[in-house]
Amino acid sequence: MALTGLSIFKLLPKTNCGECGVPTCMAFAMKLAAKSVELAACPYASDEAKKTVGAASKPPIRLVKIGPPDAEIAIGNETVMFRHEKTFVHQTAYAVAFSDDEPLSELSHHIAEAREYCLERVGEKLRVDLVLIDNVTEDVQPFTTLVKTVAGATGRGIILRSTEAEPLEGALKILAGQRPLIHAATPANVETFAALALKYNASLVARADSLDQLAALTTKLMSLGVKDIVLDLPSDNPAAALQYNTVIRKAALKASFEPLGYPIINFVTGRDAASMVADAATLVCKYASVLVIDRLDFETLLPLMMLRQNIFTDPQKPIQVEPKVYALGDAGRDSPVLATTNFSLTYFLVSGEIENSGVGAHLVIVETEGMSVLTAWAAGKFSGAKIAAAVKASGLANQLATRRLIIPGYVAQISGELEESLPGWEIRVGPSEVADLGPYLKRLAS
Ligand code: SF4
Repeated sequence: MALTGLSIFKLLPKTNCGECGVPTCMAFAMKLAAKSVELAACPYASDEAKKTVGAASKPPIRLVKIGPPDAEIAIGNETVMFRHEKTFVHQTAYAVAFSDDEPLSELSHHIAEAREYCLERVGEKLRVDLVLIDNVTEDVQPFTTLVKTVAGATGRGIILRSTEAEPLEGALKILAGQRPLIHAATPANVETFAALALKYNASLVARADSLDQLAALTTKLMSLGVKDIVLDLPSDNPAAALQYNTVIRKAALKASFEPLGYPIINFVTGRDAASMVADAATLVCKYASVLVIDRLDFETLLPLMMLRQNIFTDPQKPIQVEPKVYALGDAGRDSPVLATTNFSLTYFLVSGEIENSGVGAHLVIVETEGMSVLTAWAAGKFSGAKIAAAVKASGLANQLATRRLIIPGYVAQISGELEESLPGWEIRVGPSEVADLGPYLKRLAS
């Protein structure tokens, strides 16, 4: 039977020392009950706690870290089958692949692209996370040269794909301290590759042709002392990959089947861009922890970056911006003041329209717990009184020659309340749709 936070708390030292990374033993107990941390994080856990809580609190899907400390990617540690049950924890890491049979002169442009690619959306910078280097030549020198070049040029975590131990070891020496991921241990090479992973502190992909073989392989790796494992069950079509991923996730979460309790790596290759995006999108939703894409171009990455951001935001915590006044464009003493909520998407859409309009403005962001305009208004968090309080607290009244406040058209009904709460201010009702804001501001300024 699953342990509750309270029953776990009774077994902890209750000193609230914080060494486990959370401030109190109770908070740590709640995380243990949710299986999002391991008891090993508490250095003072008693033998009784270890015996009772240890196995019960172990995350069903192991947390695996890849990459150098300043670009570390964490995968796994998931606890639910569906995002709406709670949240997905660690987003799918996107990797692009380069192979060592291509001349460096031709790859240098793509390596620079992998480093430079950055899409900024609702305040987050979305990038390529990992680079896979494929030892197609099976030789040491071209592989190690490419590994050195890519690691130095991109700073990203590296996935080393090779069937040969010698090139692999050469590359692992170059990546000392950078925690690469080795692809892949198979039933044929398991001892050799396990020894390399342990010697160089690398994570290791386990690759087998069936679920039974994969479970046997990870069991063998565990017995050899390898803990950080990533699963690869090859498939020849996306439907099969989706099925395998689902079976693996279900076995780990619902049956606590330890041999499959690891993150999954999938590969998307070949076909046209639209099919690649469709296949990749399926696997981001179901349940790829690492997705290797053999194509690095904007039209492929853009939808995948946006999808990943949407899937892996916590549905219980709307993304928010800091409630304060943002001076946008050439905001001055006669610029209008606009008010909206601190829901990130709302902020970035409104601020983007203001900046694109070329009309300077002061944007007052009201604390609404990340709700959008109509939701916040319905919940009483974007009322006339709340907006008036935010405007007063901003101190804008003393800085402006013209006191003009524009509110979203969706909450036109609070304009009267605002006029009473903000004497000396002209209250205007702006457009309901953000797309109409730019033309509205231009008209106002003309
Ligand atoms: Fe409590 Fe252990 Fe965490 Fe200290 S490290 S706060 S004793 S759970």
